[in-house]
Amino acid sequence: MDLEKIAQSLDKVLDAGRREIPFGEVADYIPELAKSDKNALGIAIADRSGQVYSAGDVETRFTVQSISKVITLSIALETCGYDAVFQRVGMEPSGEAFNSIVELDLVSGKPYNPMINSGAIAVTDLLMGKINFTQMLDISRKLMRDDSIRLDEKVFRSEMDHCERNRAIGWLLKSKGIIENDVDEILKLYTAMCSLSVNACSLANLGLTLACDGADPVTWERVLSSDTVKVVKTIMLTCGMYDGSGQFAVEVGLPTKSGVGGGLLSVVDKLMGIGIYGPSLDKKGNCIAGGAMLRYLSSKFRLHMFQN
Ligand code: GLU
Repeated sequence: MDLEKIAQSLDKVLDAGRREIPFGEVADYIPELAKSDKNALGIAIADRSGQVYSAGDVETRFTVQSISKVITLSIALETCGYDAVFQRVGMEPSGEAFNSIVELDLVSGKPYNPMINSGAIAVTDLLMGKINFTQMLDISRKLMRDDSIRLDEKVFRSEMDHCERNRAIGWLLKSKGIIENDVDEILKLYTAMCSLSVNACSLANLGLTLACDGADPVTWERVLSSDTVKVVKTIMLTCGMYDGSGQFAVEVGLPTKSGVGGGLLSVVDKLMGIGIYGPSLDKKGNCIAGGAMLRYLSSKFRLHMFQN
């Protein structure tokens, strides 16, 4: 794998993404997110030596949103174990939108997977009383090798003021006996994790930690166990792009997670992490330019995990 070549091609990769931006929309169901610059676009790639290559808007801070589900799941697996986590949440793609309620109520006894809102809210409930937000923030900083990560209070408040749908999911979970704690308290922790402000480089570093089996690639300090990382990457591959996960897995073939803030986190196993920022989203809530950029990178450099 010629990382230099990939690094030199980043401007072309950005061009491939820019062409798609007009076909998407910025998320506006959280009013503070509607203020994002639709045309912003950046990509960062972190390799095993810890070197980060980047192009475009990589310094811009944005909220991690659903990419926090990767962190919350990792922490839950480490803190509570595999059995406790998967007793309350499944590991199948839902084929429904990220904030869907129907399949939870009509089809399944528990949320389909931890990458959709219902699943992440259930996993957050499991963590209540075992770990607090400050400790989760600390772990997030370590995983992303970024000490500047903090809570974006404005986005947090904006989402808390407009989270009727997540509240409905919370109460439905409560009515089914899937969660135990106070719905408002669970939503506060869930929303705070979604409101961590990161940039494309932080996401690239998180991807690199996952690519390196849960260890910091520079210090070799282990942050997550190998078993946790195996489960998390597999669920990212099968469920990380909501109801677009199947097509994305076929076309790109990299474990990836999106967030409605415009972030994309992608893992090229054993090699590198990729972080993308582009708030223009496709109809499924995934960064539209980022999808095109990852398709370009995957096909040009044969990064698909099932292709040599
Ligand atoms: N905080 C967002 C929500 O719960 C996350 C959704 C996403 O990024 O897909 O609606």
